[in-house]
Amino acid sequence: LSEKLGGILDRLTGRGSLSEADVDAAMREIRRALLEADVALEVVRSFTEKVREQAVGATVVKSVKPGQMVVKIVNDELIAMLGSDSQAIDLNAVAPVPIMMVGLQGSGKTTTTAKLARRMTQRDKRKVLMASLDVYRPAAMEQLAVLGRDLEIDTLPIVVGQKPQDIARRAMEAGRLGGYDVVLLDTAGRTTLDEDMMSEAAEIKAAANPHEVLLVADSLTGQDAVNLARAFDERVGLTGIVLTRIDGDGRGGAALSMRAVTGKPIKLMGTGEKTDALEDFHPSRIAGRILGMGDVVSLVEKAASTLDAEKAAAAVEKMRKGKFDLADMREQLEQMTKMGGIGGLMGMMPGISKMKNQIAAAGVDDKVLKRQVAIIDSMTREERKNPDILKASRKKRIAAGAGIKVEDVNKLLKMHRNMADMMKAVGRGKGGPMAGLAQA
Ligand code: GDP
Ligand code: MG
Repeated sequence: LSEKLGGILDRLTGRGSLSEADVDAAMREIRRALLEADVALEVVRSFTEKVREQAVGATVVKSVKPGQMVVKIVNDELIAMLGSDSQAIDLNAVAPVPIMMVGLQGSGKTTTTAKLARRMTQRDKRKVLMASLDVYRPAAMEQLAVLGRDLEIDTLPIVVGQKPQDIARRAMEAGRLGGYDVVLLDTAGRTTLDEDMMSEAAEIKAAANPHEVLLVADSLTGQDAVNLARAFDERVGLTGIVLTRIDGDGRGGAALSMRAVTGKPIKLMGTGEKTDALEDFHPSRIAGRILGMGDVVSLVEKAASTLDAEKAAAAVEKMRKGKFDLADMREQLEQMTKMGGIGGLMGMMPGISKMKNQIAAAGVDDKVLKRQVAIIDSMTREERKNPDILKASRKKRIAAGAGIKVEDVNKLLKMHRNMADMMKAVGRGKGGPMAGLAQA
């Protein structure tokens, strides 16, 4: 029976929900897209399995095909997975704060060191010392020194014949004596993942006790990304990842692979060879690239906002006819909360921007919205329809029911009167709010 009821409801609201068959069909295509984007196989498997469970039974927005809805769900999950936690470089430690770069040779460690030093010096006004621990290629130390000269950022004087961990100790000492805020340690990579590189990195870490250990990885890294990130995280311990060569034509699957196996946040991205080509990580941009289905995603987003606009239009029509009662107001308040606060729904109705301003001026935030819904819920159906019948004693009881003061009930009733008046006024205006909605 409830199934039948659900079906009727779906038809009434123009929505349905995703069946297993819908999701499986769409998942095949999504799996292919992820593999093409070079997401590691094991990550593709676990990710699609997780999203599959979430997608089955999810609501489909009207005028959207089930497959398209799945793509949108996958996209949102990708974004959440790529960037749900703090991504800023953490400098909350006793100065000089040591930050260590690790990664394969040619991944962009030295360039990223200079980029980060530049950002911290110019934007964050920190005093930064850079040190190259690459004892294998004399040119590598010189490369960092040249970058430092160009940027007018200090580099640790080169002393030939020291071990990397000794250079790290010397760098920290110089950092303390010189009153530096941050010491950036640029380590030597190897062409492949090898034991040498890992034990060296571990020794440097033990010597300098870095506050951040950043894995610098080329965004073009394919299936190897998983082993790379896992090995560094297990042997050295990472605090974050920097993705370089985002300016290239790679699809960025490495980002998802590395994030999935280490759980460590992607903190920055390199977008070019120059020292100013460093940006905060943008999960949505990378998710879009990995999935490569941006058109579908924006289509679903548009359909979802149209649906809400239709609901809003129906509500406005009621208001225009002067039938805007507290039950309608409750619906509006809920919509506002759902759509990310006052900005959302009202923003879609240019005709009633005045009302939006008034609500904003009253200092109404999401918490207040929820409280107002609670007040309305404490009323009887009759009271919601016709708030004029509310007497002082009833207001007191309602206030107690919603856990607030009588004042708040009065405030709500006043807001309702204002909204209703304004709605009526707008409704009579030229074209009314409906004109704005048609364009939305
Ligand atoms: P390292 O061996 O890890 O120190 O790598 P390097 O910093 O020396 O970088 C190797 C090459 O990659 C250099 O030619 C850099 O200019 C280039 N590179 C580094 N990061 C980026 C980036 O974000 N975009 C582009 N296009 N090139 C980069
Ligand atoms: Mg280097």
